[in-house]
Amino acid sequence: MGKTIIISNRLPVQLKIEQGKLSATPSVGGLATGLKSVHRDGNGLWIGWSGLTEEDTPSEMESEIDSALADLNCSKVILNSDEIEGFYFGFSNRTVWPLFHYFLEYTEYELNFWETYKNVNQKFADAIIANGNEDDTIWVHDYQLMLVPQMVREVWPNVNIGFFLHIPFPSYEIFRTMPWREEVLQGLLGSDLIGFHTYDYERHFLSSVRRLLNLDVSFNDIYLDNRVIKVDSFPMGIDYQKFEKAAEASAARTGDERNDIQIRLDEHKKSAPGTKLIVSIDRLDYSKGIAKRINAFEYFLNKYPEYKTKVRLIILAVPSRSNVPQYQLLKREIDELVGRINGELSTVNWTPIWYFYRSLPFSDLIDLYTSSDIAWLTPLRDGMNLVAKEFIATRTDKKGVLILSEMAGSAYEMNEALLINPNNFEQQADTLKKAIEMPDEQQIARNTFLQNRLKRYNVETWANDFMGALNNMKLEEVSNISLKLSAQVLDNISEKYRSAKKRLLFLDYDGTLSGFHKDPQKASPDDELYELLDTISNQENTTMFLISGRDKDTFTRWFLPKKYNMIVEHGVWISRNGEEFKMMEQVKGEWMEKIRPVLESFVDRTPGSFIEEKNYSLAWHYRNTDPDFGNKRATELNTVLTSLIGNDDISILNGNKVMEVKNSNVNKGRASARIFSEENYQFVFAIGDDWTDEFMFQELPDSAITVKVGLQKTDAKYHVEGPKKVRELLKKFATLG
Ligand code: UDP
Repeated sequence: MGKTIIISNRLPVQLKIEQGKLSATPSVGGLATGLKSVHRDGNGLWIGWSGLTEEDTPSEMESEIDSALADLNCSKVILNSDEIEGFYFGFSNRTVWPLFHYFLEYTEYELNFWETYKNVNQKFADAIIANGNEDDTIWVHDYQLMLVPQMVREVWPNVNIGFFLHIPFPSYEIFRTMPWREEVLQGLLGSDLIGFHTYDYERHFLSSVRRLLNLDVSFNDIYLDNRVIKVDSFPMGIDYQKFEKAAEASAARTGDERNDIQIRLDEHKKSAPGTKLIVSIDRLDYSKGIAKRINAFEYFLNKYPEYKTKVRLIILAVPSRSNVPQYQLLKREIDELVGRINGELSTVNWTPIWYFYRSLPFSDLIDLYTSSDIAWLTPLRDGMNLVAKEFIATRTDKKGVLILSEMAGSAYEMNEALLINPNNFEQQADTLKKAIEMPDEQQIARNTFLQNRLKRYNVETWANDFMGALNNMKLEEVSNISLKLSAQVLDNISEKYRSAKKRLLFLDYDGTLSGFHKDPQKASPDDELYELLDTISNQENTTMFLISGRDKDTFTRWFLPKKYNMIVEHGVWISRNGEEFKMMEQVKGEWMEKIRPVLESFVDRTPGSFIEEKNYSLAWHYRNTDPDFGNKRATELNTVLTSLIGNDDISILNGNKVMEVKNSNVNKGRASARIFSEENYQFVFAIGDDWTDEFMFQELPDSAITVKVGLQKTDAKYHVEGPKKVRELLKKFATLG
């Protein structure tokens, strides 16, 4: 069994070289904690950038660094300062970050950034290949490494890869503006499992995959020719116990043991008893809505002046990406804003805003959490927001109020918090008032729910859930292997084919013998196909049927001169050896007059869809419509038709991007079974890609060899990947004489 390799931009290690001496300290961030059992306890390896640029690393220390990292089960990717500039500060933080957080105005599309991003992603992929094996399980993290999965897949086609995005995935309308959007999606689709924090991000991603790559998506599965990719949401939790314990320790500290920030906060409480402390903690990032929050605070103080001197807002802004220009501007804006408001509203004993631009050591952070009455977090867009969860975990007496932006991923799981729209100042002012006045019992009731949930779904559960889902995919794949037409199975089938006295073959056309086209009339047979079908149908003791939902006129044109046996319109018509088509089933067509106008109204309202009119059925095709809209309309049409047809002997077939209304007693299963019963066949073979082919797979006898084209769920015994593989299979039959 292989090992687990974790890949993220940064290693969970702080490396420092001071006066020629190296120190390597493991970092204690949430991700490192969550992945502990996967990483250090589980013979895992973590690959990432060490934080030191190539220029900062004396070459004589390389091996010392490598061995210090190896002791921590880590391996480094070496990046020089140009690469950091283009890949990290450039494409990651000036293109992807603003775009995925809906800040189009800050998004820069620079070809240089993109080129460096690709090269650096390749470096990470190369590091995986150099350090791992194809039977390892690989977990790639976050937006800096979106191309890595496909880069690894190209070298190791069978490796198991998971990817987790820690930031939002934006709506298709936003994502489509990126010049390299298809490449980014293709990069991600190298994974087997793609995880997001929330269902909405997942939904946006699937929508982009459908619209930009035109791939088949069913529920949360994406179908490629030879693989199925699962997409799911796994909301990341925190190391709950760590925060709970630290809060208990903070509360237990007395007298001299209390640290500076605690003493200062204690003094504040003593000097102004009954005042409320409101805290906000974020990296200084435009996505966090810090400036808006400060403005909203001013609005609140003006709307409810009775709270002046009774509340204080503590803003901890942690320095971040300070060499990206937007962040420098933001810093200036916030400095000025705090200065102005404090200047205008302060009294001798009261400053409304305490503003700290720094990061705090863990224990100070806990003191800040525990000393505050209210946490007020107002991101304009945030993948998750862990601060919200951490604040709740530090409420050892279950008191305290969380005001949280509904634009944060964590808001989906934290319904008991007071959720606000950060753009609505009126609502925020009222919510602040509500938070200040909230009775203890209500605070306790809300926090009890929140704490129970956060305790249960902590960061370790999150990591294990993701890994569990990833490993399950491997198991599912193994159980599917019995279905795949392996070389050995193919040999067996060939042997049966060769030795059978009488053979019967049913071959579906669209999606099986031929790929799909935007215009069905263009999917006409090519010379190679004619040649193959000629050879097989001329083999002795072989009855070959083309079996299709298509209309008889098209098949007459394409195949009648070839004298193939054919069943069309799902079994309404049959032609043998080049005879004119005859009716196979007695069917009525009066219902068509009633249904046609309904379909026409759907065509009018669904651009790209059209009606195909056959002799005894009507088909509404929607392959060329906007995928989401087309699916929605198909559901709507299904409802309308179901209520219209009532108990008539008419049924609706939901095919591959086509909805067909036809007589119930006609289907490929009934037709193929009838042909089968005519003679004593020893070898029966049926192949098709569509839902309508399932009737054949069900109705033919158990001994029949049934093959599904594609990886969707099926009653067939085997599957092949796509029309290309079908050709290979038929070529094999053609050689067997
Ligand atoms: N944090 C920290 N030092 C500080 C302030 C905050 O390490 O001085 C941590 C905080 O505990 C939280 C993280 O930074 O775990 C911020 O995570 P969040 O999801 O809220 O926002 P992000 O920075 O990932 O956008």
